[in-house]
Amino acid sequence: MATTQPYDVIIAGAGFAGLTLALKLPRHLRVLVLEKKTRVNAHAQTTGLITVTTKDLIGGLVDVDRHLTNRIEAICVLDPSFEQHFISRTRFPWIHSTNTPELLLEFARTCGENVTILNNAAVAGYTTEPGSAYPVVVRYVTNGAEGIVRGRFVVGADGVRSAVAQANPALSRNRRLLFAFERMYEGDCRLGDAPDRTVYHLWFGSFSLGYGGWIAPNFIDGKKLFRVGFATYSPDAEKARLLDRLVDILVDRGIIRLGDPAAAPLLNYGGYCPIGGVLRRIHDDHALLIGDAAGFCGPFSADGIKGAVVSGLVAAEVIPRHLAGDRRALTRFFPEVEARSRLLSYYRKQLRYRFLWDRMTSNSSFACLYRICEGEREAFLDQFCDAKDRQASLLKVLIKARHAPRLAAMGFNVAADLLTRRT
Ligand SMILES: Cc1cc2nc3c(=O)[nH]c(=O)nc-3n(C[C@H](O)[C@H](O)[C@H](O)COP(=O)(O)OP(=O)(O)OC[C@H]3O[C@@H](n4cnc5c(N)ncnc54)[C@H](O)[C@@H]3O)c2cc1C
Repeated sequence: MATTQPYDVIIAGAGFAGLTLALKLPRHLRVLVLEKKTRVNAHAQTTGLITVTTKDLIGGLVDVDRHLTNRIEAICVLDPSFEQHFISRTRFPWIHSTNTPELLLEFARTCGENVTILNNAAVAGYTTEPGSAYPVVVRYVTNGAEGIVRGRFVVGADGVRSAVAQANPALSRNRRLLFAFERMYEGDCRLGDAPDRTVYHLWFGSFSLGYGGWIAPNFIDGKKLFRVGFATYSPDAEKARLLDRLVDILVDRGIIRLGDPAAAPLLNYGGYCPIGGVLRRIHDDHALLIGDAAGFCGPFSADGIKGAVVSGLVAAEVIPRHLAGDRRALTRFFPEVEARSRLLSYYRKQLRYRFLWDRMTSNSSFACLYRICEGEREAFLDQFCDAKDRQASLLKVLIKARHAPRLAAMGFNVAADLLTRRT
């Protein structure tokens, strides 16, 4: 069994949350990051879209501009029949598509000499020995062998099913999860006049409930690429096959074009997103959860990169104070996250959207919503993404007297969905 020198802070997970924290912890602290993947920039399980606000936050940490691939200025929404669409544009910068693996590698490269990143090291659990100078004992597995490392504090930045959370009954765990299937292809999307600068939302009940589908453009190593996916509550084998059908429909209708129709996708994977909101118990005297591990992910739109970065930044401020003996430092975590980003308010609003969305199960309900949003296409994008940071509201955009007949039709359809659970 391998043992190493003790560390001040041991971080499980080298995603956005863990690497932000590692980068920002003061240089006098010895920091170890344990990452189960073989490389930090091995495939990142995310579409990698970041809002302009998140780009600016990341820009305060690393040279983010080198890893931005597409600047997105429009959203295109397709109705459940795939026959109609509307495009909404914004006058403001909106989101960016990233080369996410390279961006994560940039984080790792920028870490100081006080940080050691150990790849291929999966945290298996930890125990505490109160009274010891290094009370946290973390077990990890590397190449089939077990290692042990001691520290003063452990951070679970190891994603939605955190091993750190599972090792400590005092900490909460993510219970409400959404599963996202995604593929990346060489090729492009054909709808609209600027597909490289547009993200596509597909709304339907018949395919998947929980989120809908998406197409996002990307451009890496001189190749035009796009990601296509959908999210669902129950990731069974049958659902996995639905992505084949979705891609076939999109190709048949000329919405996407595959570079080589016979070639396998460049990426084909699935991953969970926490959608229950921020967890209640995310720290005790020796541990803190951040990022997805703590539920810092939009409960409706499943955007978690900002939550990972903000929670990493705030953790880098409160942990040193805690280690210096300030017993109230960790209790300042939530108020400081809110003061910095208003993320907690944003997640609360997203929980309300999720409540409504979850009541819609049929294509008819999504078609009604589509028609109302289409009527508001000018303002539609303004309440989205970066406008989320401006605290705009979709409901304010949609609930208007002129939409009364459509809203009534939608209410009727949602009631029918609730009574029959039809799709
Ligand atoms: C398909 C999909 C698309 C998404 N698209 C977007 C998007 O476009 N924009 C957006 O903002 N959000 C998106 N999200 C959500 C976003 O990716 C996450 O919220 C965000 O990456 C969370 O960062 P994190 O660092 O907390 O966790 P993660 O990114 O999950 O990183 C956790 C790290 O811990 C490692 N790890 C896990 N277990 C262990 C262990 N036991 N020991 C050691 N290491 C471990 C993992 O390998 C990983 O590197 C998407 C999610 C999915 C699934």
